[in-house]
Amino acid sequence: MSEIETKCIQEGYVPANGEARVLPIYQSTTFRYDSVDTLGDLFDLKTSGHFYTRLSNPTNEAVEKKLAALEGGVGAMVTASGQSAALIAITNIASAGDHIISASAIYGGTFNLFNVTLRKLGIDTTFVNVNATPEEIQALIRPNTKAIFGETITNPSLDVLDIEKFAQVAHKNGIPLIVDNTFPTPILCRPFEFGADIVMHSTSKFLDGHAVVLGGAIVDSGRFDWQASADRFPGLTQPDASYHGIVYTDTFGEDAYITKARVQMMRDFGAQMSPMSAFILNMNMETLHLRMQRHCENAQKVAEYLQQHEKIAWVNYPGLPDNPYYALARKYLPKGCSAVIAYGVKGGKAAAKQFMEHLKLASLEIHVADIRTCCLHPASTTHRQLTDEQLVQAGVSPDLIRMSVGLENVKDIIADIERALKTV
Ligand SMILES: *Cc1c(COP(=O)(O)O)cnc(C)c1O
Repeated sequence: MSEIETKCIQEGYVPANGEARVLPIYQSTTFRYDSVDTLGDLFDLKTSGHFYTRLSNPTNEAVEKKLAALEGGVGAMVTASGQSAALIAITNIASAGDHIISASAIYGGTFNLFNVTLRKLGIDTTFVNVNATPEEIQALIRPNTKAIFGETITNPSLDVLDIEKFAQVAHKNGIPLIVDNTFPTPILCRPFEFGADIVMHSTSKFLDGHAVVLGGAIVDSGRFDWQASADRFPGLTQPDASYHGIVYTDTFGEDAYITKARVQMMRDFGAQMSPMSAFILNMNMETLHLRMQRHCENAQKVAEYLQQHEKIAWVNYPGLPDNPYYALARKYLPKGCSAVIAYGVKGGKAAAKQFMEHLKLASLEIHVADIRTCCLHPASTTHRQLTDEQLVQAGVSPDLIRMSVGLENVKDIIADIERALKTV
């Protein structure tokens, strides 16, 4: 299966003779075995198999295989949310006393995780502007730096990450690059092709795409050489006492990172996706390629419409030729720039409020990436904990409206905006 559209539909679950055509929901916490020794071997990681859904489940596994195939990785692990995916992606290789570098323009929830909660756990984060030069990023690397993190398209400031630039600095220092690929999905960008080592997702966004199930995922490229930086990553290259001294890199090779994420971090944190959610996620991912194409077409048209409107102060969409990230978008997102547009209505915060409350088709909600058009005012919601200075750092101006363009007929979406703008 070489084409991505085919993978969306066919990868992950392949029924044997006489089995259900559609991926079944294994709604079971546990699995039955004939012999005590087999269960013992499962616990010792000597053999693979499902034994308790907190660690793995056949429905979840099908989604994991599909995601790994779509991103071009060796393995994946689904999680209860995007937040838990970020938490595990980092804590799998960083612990108290360690340090990470993150792009400053990132999702508000991830920013809080890094800036507040990980600090309480003893993991320090330095935030860096996505436009920093390689030398500026290099200057932030410390002996205890364990990862560099960024978002392919930042939420909500819509900067496009120069993945190759960050990957080169990371690799020069024997550090992996972790990329949150939530906004493009593997349909629009596959960060591994540009040097990223680990990809994470909030599957609650486009992968589900219907605003139905919360979830997250971590995908491992299998290409990072942990052994070459063995001193930096003792958790992967030294014996794990909780598994009778197993060494992940020795036993699991290119699967070391994703195996440790499951058998150690998921075992202990327990942030597993429910099989019911995995079933729905899988079903919705079957149309991911069709949805992303139409999301991009509609968003491009809405961005172009907004740009020429006299009541609009500014429009930020990397698919517009005058956008500062247009060149990077051509390189990393040639098929389209996803569905999210940021813009300001002339008249600032008050005008934004007036406009948004008069939209009818586009609904006001804390979400993006739905088939239904929706919008949000980040400064008063998702980013309200941030100081003015942090808002600027995160690329969120007080008048910023974030609109996620849905799959309705674009004429109706534009008519809705036109009507609401008349009230301003
Ligand atoms: C929503 C989002 C997250 C967090 O995901 P949840 O599923 O809401 O926990 C992380 N990163 C990005 C880019 C997001 O948009």
